[in-house]
This record gives sequence, C-alpha cells and structure tokens, in this order.
Amino acid sequence: MQNKEVDILVVGAGIIGASVGAELSRRGAKVCVIDKGTVGKGCSYGNAGWMTPCFAMPLPMPGMLIKSMKWLLNPEGPLYIKPSLSLDLATWMYHFMKNMNATQARRAVDALVVLSQKSLTEYEKLGRLYPETRFQQKGLMMVSRTQAGVAAAVEELEYVKDIGVTGKILNGDDIQQMEPALKAPLLGGVYFDKEAMAEPYLVVQALAKEIRQHGGEILENCELQDMEISGNRIESVKTSQGTIRAKQIVMATGSWSKSMAKMMRLRVPILGGKGYAMIVPTLEKQPQYPIMLVEKKIAITPRENTLRIAGTLELVDQDFTITQRRVESIKKGAKEFLHLPDDLQVQELWAGLRPCTPDGVPLIGYHQNLNNLVLAVGHQMLGLQSGAGTGLLVADLVEGKKPFIDMSVVNANRF
Ligand SMILES: Cc1cc2nc3c(=O)[nH]c(=O)nc-3n(C[C@H](O)[C@H](O)[C@H](O)COP(=O)(O)OP(=O)(O)OC[C@H]3O[C@@H](n4cnc5c(N)ncnc54)[C@H](O)[C@@H]3O)c2cc1C
Repeated sequence: MQNKEVDILVVGAGIIGASVGAELSRRGAKVCVIDKGTVGKGCSYGNAGWMTPCFAMPLPMPGMLIKSMKWLLNPEGPLYIKPSLSLDLATWMYHFMKNMNATQARRAVDALVVLSQKSLTEYEKLGRLYPETRFQQKGLMMVSRTQAGVAAAVEELEYVKDIGVTGKILNGDDIQQMEPALKAPLLGGVYFDKEAMAEPYLVVQALAKEIRQHGGEILENCELQDMEISGNRIESVKTSQGTIRAKQIVMATGSWSKSMAKMMRLRVPILGGKGYAMIVPTLEKQPQYPIMLVEKKIAITPRENTLRIAGTLELVDQDFTITQRRVESIKKGAKEFLHLPDDLQVQELWAGLRPCTPDGVPLIGYHQNLNNLVLAVGHQMLGLQSGAGTGLLVADLVEGKKPFIDMSVVNANRF
C-alpha cells in the first residue's frame, strides 16, 4: 500500500486514458494512470483498428427509429437491443429516441470529424516513433450488393464531404479491380482515400511507453474503489493499492463509467455496445484494404499475418458473455463477401463493450459539481479514431486553453 500525490490522476488505461496520460505527460505534468486490469485490455484491445473520420455518425441518427424497432425483433441482426425491464435501459432508450434529430446529428458529426482528423494526425506521428503500431493510411472501402447499401455508402460520403473527408463513388467493377479478394457480384460503394488503420492494442502500448518516457507512472491492477469528496472537490481517491491525492482527476473508464459515476453521485448513462472480433489466418485471397460490408455492418481488417473480422452491436450492461449465434452470423456474413474456408480456424475470439451514451456522443469536460473532475468517457464506436484527439482536448482543458471543438456538443453535464 502506498500514498501518492500527483498533478493528474487518470483512471482507466484504455485508448482514452492512455491518450490523455501521454499528452499531459508530454506537456510536463506529473501524471499517474491507474487501471483495475492491465493497460489496453478493455474495449481498446481487440477493436477493428480503424481510424476513419468518415465514420463519425452518432448511433441515434435520424431514420434509426424504424431500424431500431427491427433490431428488437432480430437477435441475429447486426444491431440488437434486447428488451428488458431495466430502468437504466429505459432511461437510455428515452434519451436515444429524444436525440434522433437532424440538427443535433449535424453538430455532433461536425465536432467528431474534427476530433477524428486531429487524432489521425497524432497517430501518424506516433506510428513514425513506434512502427510496431503498424499505422497504415490505405483508405477504406464501403462495399455493397444492394441498391440500399450503395445508397447508404453514398449518403455517408455526402454527409461528410464538405467538412474535409474525401471519397470516391465506385461501381462494382471498380471495386473488383481494386480489391480482387471480394466475391462478385458487387453493385458499388465508396472508397474513402485518407482513412487509416493500426493495431489497436499496440497503439495503447505505444502511448503507455510515451507516458513512462515523459516521467509518468502507470499502476496496473489498481482499482479506484472510493473517494473522499469535500465540498465541490475530490480530495483523494482510495485505490486497491493505496490513497492518491491529485490536483485534477480524469475519468476514462469506458463502459464501466456508469458505476464509477454512481460512486460520485453523478449521472452518466453509459451502456455497453457489445461487439465481437475474431482473428483468422490469412486467406488465400487476402484483402488488401479495410472493408466495411455495408448491409452486414461487418468490418474486415487485413493484418500482417492474419485477418480481423469484427461486428455486431448488442446493448448490454456489463455483460461480457459470448453469444455463439451472433458470432456465427458474423462468420456467415463475411463468407458471403470473402473466400473464407469452410473449416475456418478462429485463432482468437474477443468481445468488447463500446461505451455508448444515448446520444452517441462522448462526454468530455469538467463536471459541474466536482470542479477537479474531468470526464472523458462514452466514445462508443469511435474510441480509437477519436482517442488521440481527446487526449489533446483534455490536456487543453486542464491547461485552460481554448478547446478546438465546440464543447457544447460533448458537454459532460448534459444528462
Ligand atoms: C468489435 C468492436 C470494434 C470496434 N472497432 C473500432 C474501430 O475500428 N475504431 C474505433 O475508433 N473504435 C472501435 N471500437 C470502439 C472502441 O474500441 C472503443 O470506443 C474504445 O476502446 C473505448 O476506449 P476507452 O478507453 O473509453 O475504454 P476501455 O478501453 O474499455 O478502457 C477503460 C479502462 O478503464 C478501466 N477501469 C474501469 N473501471 C476502473 C476502476 N474503477 N479503476 C481503475 N480502472 C478502471 C478498465 O479496466 C479499462 O481498461 C470498436 C469496438 C468493438 C467492440
């Protein structure tokens, strides 16, 4: 057991906590990052590795209402909300429905694209320092076999093309030429040329190295268990390894944030968007590009000696169980587009909980009741692609600098 005093305590060493810790350490603060497990083993471990500003849409986009009703009925669909009587789910759904409007979606996308583009620049720099992150800016393809799928891809491009995201509409032949690993026939899609990918776990590990190299400290297996609050300040926190006093505390606890917040009597309505990723051996016809299979909502990421297939979003509350039926539907969906062998060997199967706020936008900023607490949570499907930018943003806030996005969009006190 030990007692410590630091400038900044970051709780959570996923992509968000590691990005915040690295940036504040680089700027000279005395930083301590704690995690109840080990660095980068939460949702940041096995995600698709995409750094794609083109995908900045929050979950409750207009038009989702009809779709969400369909998900309720299909437990094998790409997106699924299991009906339940939980009050947390009911509250979450209420805010989800309330936020499906065009004005809110536009403001959110504008801010999230900037956050993602800033992140992309940072990851490119990180990739030069740490080549093991395997940062590659190959672009990304959205492909489809249906009119509706092609229309969705084109709509995605239309929505972001005026805010600096570039892309090209492709027909089936164009796609086949660029990516012969895809099975014919294909109707069309979009190629976003500036999007990137990397190894998500190795990115967090590189950031951890940055923290240590700049004098910061990381305590693993160190759980925040309680805190001493006096007036509107957190005086100290009790962890499984002793007491820590910090001038400022950054909460970056991903899908665990709801229970963390309850400890502080704060309302943070975050549920987990469970998704799966499987690593399979390199295919005989291995894709060269990251590919989004539009109607299946499956993400294909080529890796050095393997392939990652990721997908599904099932709204849950701290439930990490693997539902084989949903895993099989990902395999089946991928097999319709790729030459997967009948006896596909899954080398690793992983489930992660995306930290989902009901309006699909993260909560970033100081809390109104506790003036030394900064929230950096709820990055839903975009945690990797907006992580490094969140690190810059939080560091700017802590230093009292003018933030580079409209902070009212990510307002930490909006629920
Ligand atoms: C299948 C799948 C594919 C995805 N693909 C992409 C993608 O391609 N691109 C993208 O941008 N995003 C993607 N995501 C989303 C992305 O993975 C998440 O948004 C991101 O990992 C969230 O990061 P985080 O740091 O907030 O949470 P986490 O990585 O979960 O980190 C939170 C940390 O807090 C720690 N913690 C919790 N409570 C405590 C406590 N009391 N004390 C101490 N520590 C605590 C946990 O141990 C954990 O390590 C995907 C997600 C899934 C599931």
